[in-house]
Amino acid sequence: MPETPIIQIETLNKWYDPFHVLKDVSLQVAAGERLVICGPSGSGKSTLIRCINALEPFQQGRLEVAGIALDDTAKTITRAREHVGMVFQNFHLFPHLSIVENCTLAPVHVLGLDKRKARERAMQQLEKLRIADKADRYPAQLSGGQQQRVAIARALCLEPSIMLFDEPTSALDPEMVGEVLDSMVALAESGMTMMVVTHEMGFARQVADRVVFMDAGAIVESADPQHFFAHAESERARQFLSKIL
Ligand code: ADP
Ligand code: MG
Repeated sequence: MPETPIIQIETLNKWYDPFHVLKDVSLQVAAGERLVICGPSGSGKSTLIRCINALEPFQQGRLEVAGIALDDTAKTITRAREHVGMVFQNFHLFPHLSIVENCTLAPVHVLGLDKRKARERAMQQLEKLRIADKADRYPAQLSGGQQQRVAIARALCLEPSIMLFDEPTSALDPEMVGEVLDSMVALAESGMTMMVVTHEMGFARQVADRVVFMDAGAIVESADPQHFFAHAESERARQFLSKIL
């Protein structure tokens, strides 16, 4: 009997009234699986992963995260979020807090860790992301690539079972993309369940178990990367690939 998927999405529908933004989206993600989500701008990728983190409500369908069905109650949202780390395109670090304070805030206030323990955990994560030497700096003193690695470390300090990434390298200067992707590859190799919205197809080839292609609010294709890149089935996916590869 295969394990229950850690993320279960069944015929999810969402409207930004009157715009139908997610159309009958169904998706199962197994624990430890790495998914890359791609598709044209405006196809609903961000909206989908924001629903998984309960940052956006939905109107129809079912969404379960680590066995918790997301309804609109604050309690289930809080419980589900404990399992989910999120990394955004624009880092979203707190500008008035130092790097290590960025990493200890939620563990202290959400998980109730004592400050010493939270700091220890933060330093461990910052070391893994090779940014511990910047612990007492402020976000504005770091490069974009460094800030994004801090954002990853900060999310990991809550010890999530799932990490969501929304175009984590799109806002970076080209020379900084590699350091962030390397950190994400290492995280994938550690066994983390990951859903990554990205157009970095090298990353997809290297680590993804599956590539999910979205267009106009729907999942059009879902295939292993080799198959997807060589034999995308839909005309829309082939067109998309011809523009980005
Ligand atoms: P993607 O991440 O694939 O570029 P998004 O999920 O951001 O797509 O957006 C999907 C569609 O929903 C786009 O047409 C976008 O303009 C629209 N949209 C996104 N956020 C909102 C919002 N808060 N209110 C209204 N429309 C929105
Ligand atoms: Mg987006």
